[in-house]
Parts: sequence; structure tokens; C-alpha cells
Amino acid sequence: MNKNTVKIITDNNLCIGCGLCKTSCRDDAIIIKFDKNKEYKPIIDFEKCTYCALCYFNCPMSAKNLNARIADASVHNTEYGIEKALNFYKGYENDYENYIKSSSGGILSGLLKYLLKTAKIDAVVHAEQNFTDNKGTYFQASISKTENEIDQKRSSFYYPIEFSEVLEKAVADESIKNIAFLGTPCVISSLTYLLRTRKDLRAKIKYKFSLMCSHNTGAGFTDMLVDSMTKDKSHRAFKHRDKENIPTADNFNNSVTFKDNKKLEVSRYKTPFTTNWRVYSYAMKGCSYCPDFFGADADAGFKDAWGFSVDRKEGETVLFSNLQEISDILIEMQEKEIITLSEITKKELIKSQKTTVADKSVYVGYRQNRKKYLRKNLKKKAKYSLIIP
Ligand SMILES: Cc1cc2nc3c(=O)[nH]c(=O)nc-3n(C[C@H](O)[C@H](O)[C@H](O)COP(=O)(O)OP(=O)(O)OC[C@H]3O[C@@H](n4cnc5c(N)ncnc54)[C@H](O)[C@@H]3O)c2cc1C
Repeated sequence: MNKNTVKIITDNNLCIGCGLCKTSCRDDAIIIKFDKNKEYKPIIDFEKCTYCALCYFNCPMSAKNLNARIADASVHNTEYGIEKALNFYKGYENDYENYIKSSSGGILSGLLKYLLKTAKIDAVVHAEQNFTDNKGTYFQASISKTENEIDQKRSSFYYPIEFSEVLEKAVADESIKNIAFLGTPCVISSLTYLLRTRKDLRAKIKYKFSLMCSHNTGAGFTDMLVDSMTKDKSHRAFKHRDKENIPTADNFNNSVTFKDNKKLEVSRYKTPFTTNWRVYSYAMKGCSYCPDFFGADADAGFKDAWGFSVDRKEGETVLFSNLQEISDILIEMQEKEIITLSEITKKELIKSQKTTVADKSVYVGYRQNRKKYLRKNLKKKAKYSLIIP
């Protein structure tokens, strides 16, 4: 009997809270709890568990999966995840009213809407703000079936997103045939492992899009930001990246929405956002051991155009495409003047966040070797150059 379960991951503080271990479980033995530390944690009912180990083997933070990704990262270094990408672009959505709701150039939401409009997909699984009062969480997983819903859920949510319930809903919904799934690279890997064992989901997930990622933060980051901005407990929602009235893309606002729908917008340089983000103080623990900045298992990945000169002061999106079909669709959108796009090189993409990319892909081995569980269980020891290639 294989004694590996996702408990090994939680015991070693590596869980990213995606909930896909629950979706993997054939014994219905896992529940996901948002615990007192405000983290999603799988709890296994060992009376029901048959020790099939799927929850462990589908977890992106298991030693087996990290091994494979380290092996790839040590070959491809800073290109890990985009070594086979077909095209690289920078650009923005032309519809200013919607673009302004996005975190970067709005290309991702523009693409999702176009995929819906052209019936290539009929649903998107992604995330949204939670507008309910007295909430336990500020953001949650979500299904969108209309262009309007996609517009309402634009922006980046630095928050754990637990997908198990929403994915089961999508599977059960007979009107949904083709889904675009969005997540950080680790969640995209988790989904990729899961699809090997869930045929019903495999039949529905058409595209996997990554939000390229230095790290995600636990829910405590958002709680701390809200507390620093208002004492009014009756606020309804929070947004990490609000672009209304910002001077430049880099200088975005954190915003709190109150009951009367009034908004308090404060530059991220005047809240504790930037100081805490830069030193990873609220980073999920698992992020330190993940080598994947770009989204090695994604069909396309999206990021901010940091380091680029941009046409629109409120920011642009930079992206890679691993699928010819997606590249063709983007060109079609450009021809229809839905988006403004220009081709960039792989080197330019890496240069956009060079130090972060190297820190994740090239230097991850040093951090992993300091984590007892990984040191003991990683067969492939990372051999990295200290010089960034
Ligand atoms: C945790 C996290 C870390 C990131 N780190 C970086 C980074 O280091 N460097 C960088 O350049 N870019 C990073 N990004 C990506 C960047 O912030 C933008 O998401 C990306 O540029 C796309 O912008 P857009 O304007 O095209 O997308 P938008 O039009 O704003 O659409 C974004 C879509 O993503 C969905 N979404 C938002 N948050 C989540 C989430 N947590 N899980 C699932 N779906 C979500 C929204 O529902 C929406 O559909 C990160 C994003 C996240 C969520």
C-alpha cells in the first residue's frame, strides 16, 4: 500500500490551497477547510481513504512532481516554461472602458471574451472578488459564461483560490462543453496532473492559461492591507490593482469598496502593499520551492509589461503562446481592431523580470535543498550555475 497522501504536503507547509487534491480523490475522503490561519487545507478522512495516492501524485508540490520540474528547469534555466513557445507578444485591448478594469493590458479578458463570442469556449473558470458582507474571504473561484461576467472579474487577485467546488459544478453543467481555465503556474500544473485521472474534466478543459507569477500571497496579505486602509468593517470588497486615475501602470491603487459603493483608492506605494510584496512577507510557503515563473504546462501565459516602453500609461500585457491556434486568434483579434499587438522576442520576455525569473528557475535548488522534506525526497539534485545565463 502506498502511504503517500496530501497530508505530507500540508504537514510540510507546502500546500497552495488550490483544492485540486479533493477533485482528484475517488473516495470522497477529502474536505477543504479555510482554517483559522485563513488558509485552505485538505483534511483527509482516513476511514474513507483507500490510499490510492492520487491526491499526492496530482499535487504540484509533491517531491515527484517537483523533481520533474527541477529536471526541466535545470536544462532550460531562465527559459524554463517558454522553451517551446511559438510566439511572444505585447499589447492592449482597444476598448478603453473595459481595459481600465484589467490589471495589465486587458489582453487576457479580451481573448476570453473573443473565445466566448466565437463559440470556441462556453465557460471560463477563473476568480472573482467576493462582494458579500461579513465575508470570510475576499476572492473566490468562479465560472463565467458571458462576456459581461468576464468584464466584471477583470484584474489580479493575490489570494489563495480554491477550485474544487467550481470545477465539479462545471463538470455537472451540461451546457458547458469547452472551458478556458485560468490560474497561477502551480495551479495550472495541478490541473494538468489532475486531467490525467479525470476523463470527464479532460473532455471539457480546452485551454489552460497561466498568470505568470513571482509568488502568490496568503489571505493575511489582503486582511493586513484592508486593516491598514479602513476601520470600517462594513466594507464590501477589496482590489489589489485598481487603475482608475493612476499616473502610470506601476503606480496602481489598492482600493476598498464600501456598502454605498463608494471607493477608497490609495496608491500601492502609500499602503504597506509594495514593501511587503517585495520581501515576500506574506508569500505562500510553497512559492519558495516552485521553479515555474511562466507556466510550463499552460497553452498561453500572461504578465505585466514591466520594463517595456508602453503606449498606454495604464499598462500593457505581455504574453507567450504555445498553441498556433491561440496565436492565430490573437492575430485575428488584431485585424478586427479588438486589440493592439506587437511581436516581442523570448529574450525580451525574460528580461522583463529577469531577476525574478532567475530566482525562481535557476536558484530554486538552493532553497529546496534547505527544506528537509525536499532534501530527503528529491532524487534529482539541482546543479545550477551561479551565473545567470
Ligand atoms: C498571484 C499572481 C501573481 C502574479 N505575479 C506576476 C508577476 O510576478 N509578474 C507579472 O508580470 N505578472 C504577474 N501576474 C499576472 C498579472 O498580474 C496579470 O494577471 C496578467 O498580466 C494579465 O493581465 P490582463 O490585464 O491581460 O488580464 P485581466 O484582463 O486583468 O484578466 C485577469 C483574469 O485573471 C483572473 N484572475 C485573477 N486572479 C486570479 C487568480 N488568483 N487565480 C485565477 N484567476 C485569476 C481574473 O478573474 C481575470 O479573468 C500575477 C498574477 C497573479 C494572480
